[in-house]
Amino acid sequence: MPLLAALLAIAIFIVDTATPLEFAVAVLYVGVVLLAMDFAGRRGTLIVTVACAGLTLLSFAITHSGDLSSGAILRMLISLSAITITGTLAARHLRAMATVREHARLLDLTHDTIFVRNLDDVIVFWNRAATELYGWSREQAIGRKASDLLQTQFPAPFETVMGDVKREGRWEGELVHTCSDGRKVTVASRWSLRRDERDRPIAILETNNDITERRQVEDGLNRTRGELAHVARVATMGELTASIAHEVNQPLAAIVTNGEACLRWLGRAVPDIGQARKSVESMIRSGQRASDVVARLRTLSRRGDAGHTPVALPEIVNDVALLIRHELRVHHATLSIQAPANLPAVRGDKVQLQQVVMNLLMNGLQAMDGITDRPRRLTVEIKEDDTGSVVLAVSDSGPGIAPEAQRVLFDAFFTTKPDGMGMGLSICRSIVEAHGGHISASNLDSGGARIAVSLPRHADQAA
Ligand code: ADP
Repeated sequence: MPLLAALLAIAIFIVDTATPLEFAVAVLYVGVVLLAMDFAGRRGTLIVTVACAGLTLLSFAITHSGDLSSGAILRMLISLSAITITGTLAARHLRAMATVREHARLLDLTHDTIFVRNLDDVIVFWNRAATELYGWSREQAIGRKASDLLQTQFPAPFETVMGDVKREGRWEGELVHTCSDGRKVTVASRWSLRRDERDRPIAILETNNDITERRQVEDGLNRTRGELAHVARVATMGELTASIAHEVNQPLAAIVTNGEACLRWLGRAVPDIGQARKSVESMIRSGQRASDVVARLRTLSRRGDAGHTPVALPEIVNDVALLIRHELRVHHATLSIQAPANLPAVRGDKVQLQQVVMNLLMNGLQAMDGITDRPRRLTVEIKEDDTGSVVLAVSDSGPGIAPEAQRVLFDAFFTTKPDGMGMGLSICRSIVEAHGGHISASNLDSGGARIAVSLPRHADQAA
């Protein structure tokens, strides 16, 4: 390049000096200045500009020393202006480029992965941290489509994400990317939309943080929490064995009794078909009830990792109520359920929420054991609050929560029962919080405790 520029300058000088052309040949020095931009830097380009101007003047001095015609002077002045204007613009451009490069170098210092994509998803900038995380060099990445190169897995369809960015100017979420060696990384991603001076979107700056390890730890923690909840559920079922056996045994006994009655109606001299039919219908109803109890039990003993689906809380309470019916009788307690029709569903895992309700009802029941001066009453109240959540509150007519227990009620291993594990409320809290809700305890003025669980309504049903 420098050689080419020098040769061009010499050629222009010779033509300008040796040939009597009536044309501002020296204007062509502009080409030399432009060539210099590529290799000489800002100072060098300025020096080349001055040199070209000098050559123009020298050539003028040699060829027109005795003839200062206005045409020749005008041509020389035009050439000089062209060269100086080009030189100045070139220097300004080089300074701007240096600033941009300096900014880009700053982006290389950060540990965050940063890259810029145009609206066709083609990468136009790629920082050092991106190379370190993904394994592709800047040269390999620039010009490639980001979603192809990184095989991006989005939490929502790409069009939806792009729609959000264009509307809000930003987007945040978790993405899974594939590195050059095939490794998958989970990143917390933040996108910002760049617009031009006419407010048209032109590019997206994407900043990513590798959270693969954090996600793995969280997943492990969730698994352990799920296993613990499962163990606690099975333990609760162990406690309920007698009750459940009774719950299944009762319809079975009724089936036997009705079966015998049916045989008697049929064995008469004149068989009473009408009564026999009634006995059989009663047998079918009892069989249905026993199988309902078994079905509910099977769900409860399942490992609860069924994801988040719309769940109707009244249905959950009814399911659990069916399982603890006998327990209520043994404890001489009544259960009333108050739930308005048209309650919105919550977003959750049915089995886990059943476990929460089961724990709260069993705690209430056990708390009322020593109560003899008033009815033992359990109440489940479900209603919608004005923040878009559904609140399920279990109240009892027991002694209420002891003052010293208030602070540690939801801590693991806090128990006041001789054979208690102290895991029930702690598991309730982690389940509720994993559902984006919260749980709180208070005492009623009339005596007794009230545990309230608030869960966000299912998004599809938001007002
Ligand atoms: P556990 O039932 O094994 O003790 P929990 O975590 O379910 O474990 O309960 C912890 C403690 O909270 C109980 O031992 C009891 O002292 C208190 N508690 C829970 N529910 C009630 C309630 N409805 N009324 C009074 N105290 C309660």
